Amino acid sequence: MSGIYIHVPYCKHKCEYCDFYSVVTSEGKEKFASLIEKELVLRKEYLPDNEIETIYFGGGTPSMLDENQISDILNSISKNYTISKNPEITLEANPDDLTSELLISLRSIGVNRLSIGIQSFSDIDLKQLGRRHDASQAVNAVNMAHNADFDNISIDLIYGLPYSNTDIWISNLQKAFELPVSHLSCYHLIYEEGTPLSKRVVLGKVTPVSEDLSVEQFQILQEMSAKNGFIHYEISNLAKEGCFSRHNSSYWNQVPYLGLGPSAHSYNGISRDWNPKSIAIWKNSIENGLFAGESEILSLKDKHNDYLITSLRTIWGANIDFISMNFGMDKANQFLKTAEKYIKQGIIEHNGGIYRIKSKHFFTSDGVISDFLEI
Ligand code: SF4
Repeated sequence: MSGIYIHVPYCKHKCEYCDFYSVVTSEGKEKFASLIEKELVLRKEYLPDNEIETIYFGGGTPSMLDENQISDILNSISKNYTISKNPEITLEANPDDLTSELLISLRSIGVNRLSIGIQSFSDIDLKQLGRRHDASQAVNAVNMAHNADFDNISIDLIYGLPYSNTDIWISNLQKAFELPVSHLSCYHLIYEEGTPLSKRVVLGKVTPVSEDLSVEQFQILQEMSAKNGFIHYEISNLAKEGCFSRHNSSYWNQVPYLGLGPSAHSYNGISRDWNPKSIAIWKNSIENGLFAGESEILSLKDKHNDYLITSLRTIWGANIDFISMNFGMDKANQFLKTAEKYIKQGIIEHNGGIYRIKSKHFFTSDGVISDFLEI
């Protein structure tokens, strides 16, 4: 089983905090689907397995493509691979792009999961983040998607926002739980270098929230989501039973995936590859039948570290038998020694050979995970 990720690099405007690769233009957008098809044919052999279990349109703003382009890309995938009987096909969407007509069309061509970039239900927050939708469009988008027969709807929310407060965060979560949403991706705001928001921090015009407030909002997220039947299955992801993102879970379970489009990353168990962050370079290479990206062959150490980084961020945890079988007894013993330290501190729990970070410690798990890594 494998996955396919398509990076749609267009946005209608750039949000204040965003450092994903995207350009504010529609120029050349009409050729995007045919370029993706060319890249798919060119790199078809990258995946070790012909069966595709998940397809994910991310961005940028995939909802800027029309349904014909999305349908063309899905048809190209099914011409070149076998799509499994019950695939998960996700499209990231901005609330203000969604209409009932578009949603019905998307559903009819096979898209069965939406990830809607809501970020907040507060107009004040949305303005500060530079989002182009407002709170009422966010609510309408979810309801329209539900009415168009989407029963697997994820929304993104951001906490730890400057100018905002914990009451707004609580009301954001309440609103999410009132809506027909089965999955939440909740991220703490990150001040990515070079973004307008981070420049405002440097100029002293924005003050990041305190660590205590960040932790408080994270704990509120955990308490409210548990009360509403959501399982915190990965640091930033929570879902109702049976609604975990299969595509994202495959990243954390070392399932191979092919990334198409500018800046997309790929992984096949042997190498990690990434496309250039430039539509022009990517397009030029694909038109000339060449892969423009870079590739890194994974060493045993890379694979070991990848396994630890991805497994310890989930409720499924790391498996000591897997470590000893794939990376050797020395690595397994080293893992157990480090794990013991965190078990004593009440941060890690284990059940048989499965070791996991308790979800209440997910917020500070980066430091714990880095302690396990091979340097
Ligand atoms: S819509 Fe998404 S990808 Fe585009 S600028 Fe905003 S956050 Fe970034």
